[in-house]
Amino acid sequence: MIKSINREKCNSCSLRINTGCPVSDSCHTDAIKLNGEGFPYIAYPDDCDTCFICYLDCPNEAVEVSAQIPVPFMTVY
Ligand code: SF4
Ligand code: SF4
Repeated sequence: MIKSINREKCNSCSLRINTGCPVSDSCHTDAIKLNGEGFPYIAYPDDCDTCFICYLDCPNEAVEVSAQIPVPFMTVY
């Protein structure tokens, strides 16, 4: 699931070239939206299906996505 979008790591790459931030366009579930300034924010985290596309599309690793490990695989025998 998407965890955070780090504004300190974001260098506004899309604002400098006057395009929308690619991570909002790449999210096929619309979990990420752009605010009025053009920065991405997590609008619907529960809609995220952990595809990692937004993570891959950000050149500055500003997007953190965590793979959710099913509980049975976390058990240590
Ligand atoms: S792609 Fe990453 S660095 Fe560029 S505007 Fe979006 S969050 Fe910021
Ligand atoms: S991991 Fe996939 S579904 Fe989740 S916010 Fe990123 S692009 Fe959207």
